[in-house]
Amino acid sequence: MNPFDLTGRVAIVTGGNRGIGLGIAEGLAQAGAKVMIAARDPVLSETVAAQLRARKADAAFCITDVSAADSCAAMVESTLRAFGRLDILVNNAGMIIGGAPETTALADWEQVLSINLTGSFLCAQAAFPAMQRQGGGKIINIGSLASIFGTARGAAYAASKGGVVQLTKSLAVSWGPENIQANAILPGYIESELTRRAEADKPGSFAAKLGRTPAGRIGTPQDIAGAAIFLASAASDFITGAAIPVDGGYGVQI
Ligand code: NDP
Repeated sequence: MNPFDLTGRVAIVTGGNRGIGLGIAEGLAQAGAKVMIAARDPVLSETVAAQLRARKADAAFCITDVSAADSCAAMVESTLRAFGRLDILVNNAGMIIGGAPETTALADWEQVLSINLTGSFLCAQAAFPAMQRQGGGKIINIGSLASIFGTARGAAYAASKGGVVQLTKSLAVSWGPENIQANAILPGYIESELTRRAEADKPGSFAAKLGRTPAGRIGTPQDIAGAAIFLASAASDFITGAAIPVDGGYGVQI
């Protein structure tokens, strides 16, 4: 038996219509999982689901706003209706609003927290009953190196991503007896719309990150897929509450 095989498993990937989420969705599908793309943009989500189906994967999409509890509940209902079960939840949807802490508007702080942190909590809460009923499941939360390090122009982002790691540990402790494993992936600097916007906010970000990445390159969304497949599969059944950096070595040097 291949311990990484996901045949017959059903996964939700929030924010799966582009960037890191799309890389993860493609990886899970390649490993055999059926994939539900959950994001707000209907056109992009539909296009991505159709592209996955064209590659012989079983894929669908549902319009989801992870910051709204009823939308997270509807996301799980759509998944159960489409595929009959739910084994894997990837809480990847996220955003950043840059700026110094002294000038960050309360509304911006709340928006970042409500998508990155509260969204992960709401989706996990919505997924729990199905996973419990089935006798287990896998929750994969996408943190960041900002889960560990401070950042001058993203206090809300770093606070939300630090919270994601603590949420992960708490879900692992609470739901371990239900055979639900909860782990986090902490991506390094990965090429996506999010980092292209960060570069526009503060030119030179890419070069600075590249300069201190031992791997000598910026990551791609595909680089995150391997850890996601591992954490979604039976190969990681005794790992829970962990936060695994996937960063080309960025976080291990002073
Ligand atoms: P992108 O901006 O490319 O993608 C963000 C995704 O999140 C989109 O699919 C977007 O879809 C979705 N999304 C945003 N808000 C919501 C919402 N309220 N409800 C549902 N979906 C939402 O970013 P990345 O791919 O770079 O980032 C993905 C994750 O990885 C984020 O959590 C980010 O913080 C994290 N990360 C990224 C790093 C990087 O270097 N790129 C590094 C470390 C962490 P839509 O707009 O259609 O809703």
